[in-house]
Amino acid sequence: MKPANSILASFGTTVFEVMTRLAIEHQTINLGQGFPDEDGPDSIKAMLDTATREGSNQYPPMLGIPELRQAIAAHNKRFHGLDVDWRTQVMVTTGATEALAASILALIEPGDEAVVFEPLYDSYVPMLRRAGAEVKFVRLQPPRWALPREELAAAFSPRTKLILMNTPMNPTGKVFDHGELGYIAELVQKYDTYAICDEVYEHLIFDGVKHIPLITLPGMAERAIRIGSAGKTFSMTSWKVGFLTAAPRLLSLIAKAHQFLVFTTASNLQRAVAHGLDHEQAWYTNLAVDLQRKRDLLQTALTGIGFDVMPCGATYFMNADYRPLGFDGTDVDFCRHVTIEAGVTVLPVSALYATPDVDHLVRFCFCKKDAVLQGAVDRLRAFFAS
Ligand code: PMP
Ligand code: GLN
Repeated sequence: MKPANSILASFGTTVFEVMTRLAIEHQTINLGQGFPDEDGPDSIKAMLDTATREGSNQYPPMLGIPELRQAIAAHNKRFHGLDVDWRTQVMVTTGATEALAASILALIEPGDEAVVFEPLYDSYVPMLRRAGAEVKFVRLQPPRWALPREELAAAFSPRTKLILMNTPMNPTGKVFDHGELGYIAELVQKYDTYAICDEVYEHLIFDGVKHIPLITLPGMAERAIRIGSAGKTFSMTSWKVGFLTAAPRLLSLIAKAHQFLVFTTASNLQRAVAHGLDHEQAWYTNLAVDLQRKRDLLQTALTGIGFDVMPCGATYFMNADYRPLGFDGTDVDFCRHVTIEAGVTVLPVSALYATPDVDHLVRFCFCKKDAVLQGAVDRLRAFFAS
């Protein structure tokens, strides 16, 4: 038979799925794939129920129901002072994943260059390459993951079409600060490019630090695409409701990709998310307080066991170097080892590089009940003590 598309065929199954399957097979405590073990607010479940019973079950408008687009615009204003017209600058997508894919498909022409930071979320590179982009990688280095300014500048060229960035950043837990964002914005303007900004963890941020959307910086309103996810904001990862904010010209281009990818997103879910954005602000801002406490709990415990834990300022991911424990295999070996032998699953950070570089870090997901985190820590402590 004729071969399928060679670019997608060259990628294996996503590491999140691989590790979760392994966790299920060995019945472990799964701190690998990132999903909370407690759902978001009851009021949005109730609204989903009402919306379903009241008949929000047919195709909604392509850009999303007005109620949700208005709620997204109001959310932009409330948190970031961003004034946008909900009719022309906001679109609802089927998860942030679709918002990313639609933005890439709308902008990339074969042969364009796209700049990304490593480590990175696993959908970026396959989608960029499938769209025809040549991907330029800029590596952030642990433990602080600071922006390597010279390398970033060197990655831009007249062929650069866009930069795709993620702040707060998975898996590093890094939050790009104003100076770093300003530097990126200058390059975006200098090279006349776009910026796709994956901001799905915007509310999961700690220590009083504020998330700054790139789109709020001077000159970025016309060039940046801001992407969010109800899955993250409301701890409902299966809902796959995302949002995208961009200038009208950009938004209408991205909407063309959206109309042929999915056309629209479940209307009952949209009503529930609109309710959440408007009425559950306390819930999603308190989530960060609770996650910060869990971060501290896990950080202290892992340090006590002997891991070298990297700082984590946001998201629900923490990275740790296991070499001080005396394990000298790769991160993939380590993850299999602790899954099978200690009953705890974590994620190899090297899987979040296009060409593996750092291979001694593992990612712990800490949006889990305290007892679950404690159980994982107890198992690891007992295992490494023996
Ligand atoms: N971007 C990043 C950085 C993520 O970690 C995730 C997590 N799933 C997504 C995008 C996808 O979000 P969604 O589930 O809304 O598609
Ligand atoms: N974003 C989540 C993570 O980084 C999971 C995404 C997925 O399973 N595709 O773990």
